[in-house]
Amino acid sequence: MFRRDLAEYLFHCPLSVHEIARQMGLPIKTVADDLAHLARSLRHGDRRLVVHPAACRKCGFTFGTDKLTRPGKCPKCRGTWVSDPLIEVVER
Ligand SMILES: [Zn+2]
Repeated sequence: MFRRDLAEYLFHCPLSVHEIARQMGLPIKTVADDLAHLARSLRHGDRRLVVHPAACRKCGFTFGTDKLTRPGKCPKCRGTWVSDPLIEVVER
């Protein structure tokens, strides 16, 4: 539906899935699904999707870039003070 708009929206403007969902008035799951599709569709274009991974603000543990939404807990220190992953579109 709005994948092309999403690519424009996130161009050099990193946002969390929660922020995108809130600003566009869509469920988080819809946005996460669309971002996964967008990442695939951008694979051969001149732009690409970058995930700035979530990190634990207590111990500094960095999560994988496969997680688009904020993990509930840090697997290392069990802390719940975890930053949101940010998604951005940049030139290849
Ligand atoms: Zn931690």
